[in-house]
Amino acid sequence: MKDLSLRDSKVIWHPYTQMKTAKDPIAIQRGEGAYLFDENGNKYIDAISSWWVNTHGHAHPHIAEKVAVQLNKLEHVIFAGFTHEPAVELAERLLKILPQNQKRVFYSDNGSTAVEVALKMAFQYWSNKGIKRNKIVSFNNAYHGDTFGAMSISERSIFTSPFSNYLFDVLKVEIPTQENELELIGNFSELIEREDIAAFIFEPLVQGAAGMLMYSADILDQMIKICRDNEILIIADEVFTGFGRTGKMFASDHLRNKADIFCLSKGLTGGTMPLGVTTATEDVYEAFLSDDTNKTFFHGHSFTANPVACSAALASLDIFDRVETWDNIKRICEKLIEMKEVLSSSPRVKEIRLTGTILAIEIQTGDETSYFNELRNFLFPFFISKGIILRPLGNIIYLVPPYCISNSDLDYICDAIKSCLTQLDFNE
Ligand SMILES: *Cc1c(COP(=O)(O)O)cnc(C)c1O
Repeated sequence: MKDLSLRDSKVIWHPYTQMKTAKDPIAIQRGEGAYLFDENGNKYIDAISSWWVNTHGHAHPHIAEKVAVQLNKLEHVIFAGFTHEPAVELAERLLKILPQNQKRVFYSDNGSTAVEVALKMAFQYWSNKGIKRNKIVSFNNAYHGDTFGAMSISERSIFTSPFSNYLFDVLKVEIPTQENELELIGNFSELIEREDIAAFIFEPLVQGAAGMLMYSADILDQMIKICRDNEILIIADEVFTGFGRTGKMFASDHLRNKADIFCLSKGLTGGTMPLGVTTATEDVYEAFLSDDTNKTFFHGHSFTANPVACSAALASLDIFDRVETWDNIKRICEKLIEMKEVLSSSPRVKEIRLTGTILAIEIQTGDETSYFNELRNFLFPFFISKGIILRPLGNIIYLVPPYCISNSDLDYICDAIKSCLTQLDFNE
């Protein structure tokens, strides 16, 4: 029966996977709404939106239709010296929903490249102006992608250690908490004024890969203001938080002060196709306008602004224009508040964090990393056996559901988490 898994094991090298010890992957044959179906006919609730990318459910008919129409018209064309309708329309529509200071759209093809583009824009912005500013400030625990620039500005970990000699130095700041607020703002101001800083980059409100760590919009607002007062470029990495995850279209919609540069990907195409976007203010854009060729932004990818991917993004934006999508997002936000209350009572829960449609349950453990691994090896198969795809980050279980998920499926997931927490008590 498990034919695909077997063929896979002979030819495929999977991401983030120790191939020597990994279990056979589950072969998914099709998706529909919040569900995925494997080759043996098992049905799973996709509670993590397939690595946080899916927004409106799998195989969405409206996105499928728009993509099919585009495929029959133009699948791809070089984007230097040429343009096409889906790229222009998508740029127009994104600039309408992004903060008003955003004026230019630069395309790439995933989240890491959207971040690389932002970093290169920031460094070259200063270089074009003839001003020496070459440092990046980022948060502890940050995750901005897996390419070298993105790794450099992310938290150093076992994921980046083989490459540490090749990563550039970055100034790190702690993420805001209620306890460190005053001290943090003081240290941050001092740092910003002292060093030659090109840009400050952050994942607004939620640090996804760090384990869904959350922090207050208010303090971030103050930090952005400090950067603005010191004319330092501000980059919002909304690759994960964009497109409704925090309850608003962008996490930056919770802020008064807006970034100069935005990075988007993941939910951009509704989770259908790879596409990256980096947007910039007029000021950033103008720093590259010159009769001097050296000031050109020399960056591009073969599949920059792929028309099919842009069409998928346009179709996804159509669905965001529907009232029912926002009703659903609101419903999920409310349902997760309920779940948070229900699960908080478990003695096994160390902390529960909630922002919009993102819920994270941190499980109380001892300190040993071995236990972390054991826990993960228990949690993932436990939920799979219940027909739920949850992929814990260490001792953290999190939900990032597609917006079409039903309340009864959320109730079912809540019950499964409850019973999982009870079993953990027994195991001790
Ligand atoms: C996932 C992620 C990235 C990297 O995106 P990829 O498409 O996986 O390269 C960058 N920044 C944040 C905040 C992310 O969550």
